[in-house]
Amino acid sequence: MEQPISVTRSNFNDWMVPVFAPANFIPVRGEGSRIWDQENKEYIDFAGGIAVNALGHAHPVAVNALTEQAKKLWHVGNGYTNEPVLRLAKQLTENTFADKVFFCNSGAEANEAALKLARKVGLDSGVAGKSGIVAFKNAFHGRTLFTVSAGGQPKYSQDFAPLPNGINHVAFNDLDAAKAVINEQTCAVIVEPIQGEGGVIPANIEFLKGLRALCDEFGALLIFDEVQTGVGRTGALYAYMNTSVIPDVLTTAKALGGGFPVGAMLTTDKYAPHFSVGTHGTTYGGNPLASAVAGAVFEFINTPEVLEGVKHRHQYFLDALNTLNAEHQIFEEIRGQGLLIGCVLKAEYAGKAKDITTWAGEEGLLALIAGPDVVRFTPSLIIPEQDIDEGIARLKRALAKLAK
Ligand SMILES: *Cc1c(COP(=O)(O)O)cnc(C)c1O
Repeated sequence: MEQPISVTRSNFNDWMVPVFAPANFIPVRGEGSRIWDQENKEYIDFAGGIAVNALGHAHPVAVNALTEQAKKLWHVGNGYTNEPVLRLAKQLTENTFADKVFFCNSGAEANEAALKLARKVGLDSGVAGKSGIVAFKNAFHGRTLFTVSAGGQPKYSQDFAPLPNGINHVAFNDLDAAKAVINEQTCAVIVEPIQGEGGVIPANIEFLKGLRALCDEFGALLIFDEVQTGVGRTGALYAYMNTSVIPDVLTTAKALGGGFPVGAMLTTDKYAPHFSVGTHGTTYGGNPLASAVAGAVFEFINTPEVLEGVKHRHQYFLDALNTLNAEHQIFEEIRGQGLLIGCVLKAEYAGKAKDITTWAGEEGLLALIAGPDVVRFTPSLIIPEQDIDEGIARLKRALAKLAK
């Protein structure tokens, strides 16, 4: 066999559109919560592909689902349905509030579908101008034009004006602010149960309950963006299950495929029929390959053992981080649920989150940031305790560089 083309990290700068600044090593192989780079250096993975690799790397359940389906049928196009997608739809509807599912390939696409559905429901209501969307400052909903506009971080949208209009942003967790802008013209409120990219900031239960009541009062759809919080990340199958609030629409992606690209918008029989044949679509959405992997990953995660294991690991992680912090006094607050954990830097270390993840890489640890002041961990939901211990030891060495 011919040798593969030889590539190095510097080729990224040669050939790639520069929207990312990846680490200076290239991972080539992974197993469980460890990966290895081109030099065969080993890393503990606390990043989990940004809350994606829920079963870690190369888990046999995912590998078998992928390879078995790969031998049968990859893609047929939406002129035909397929068995894996119907099984996955059954799993998602049987285990959540939802009755109907629309499949796509990413979180942004799931949110795009949700926002378009809300606009359509608003139109069909007959109420003039019922197209307003209420969203929250600091939110992240994806990178399509509609979803960056719904997101509450102007740095991601301002360069692409003119933006879709009719979107109002108010402060997260501020129910009075939301109340002031939700009215008869509102077709949807979109919210993350825990703001992920925005800094791992949980929504208050009273805030979510208040949004539910306002949506009911004014006939607006309540959309929960669970792209990051879904599929076991918080220790519940979906984060809404930790609250008494049930959304009308829920979006899910990231961990859903365990690393294979797939997304979905879940909704009820009340709203699904507002989309009819031709109103929305996608070429790859619900393809057999993605659906087979997602079905296997979902089945594995949706058990009391795995979900309880996430809660247990949360406590284990927090104990280790608190011990570390008692010694080094670097974090002001450690927050989050399950295995979505954010460590907020003390004011004196403001802006240093990126440096910390760079030093973590040097010490053999993959970690994330959530804004300039928060170090974020979203490891595999089944990360072994010994890998948590080893990762924390490496984090400790990385933090020592901060003190210098
Ligand atoms: C990652 C993320 C998205 C975007 O998902 P993509 O798959 O990158 O399009 C949307 N919403 C939330 C809450 C996310 O964390």
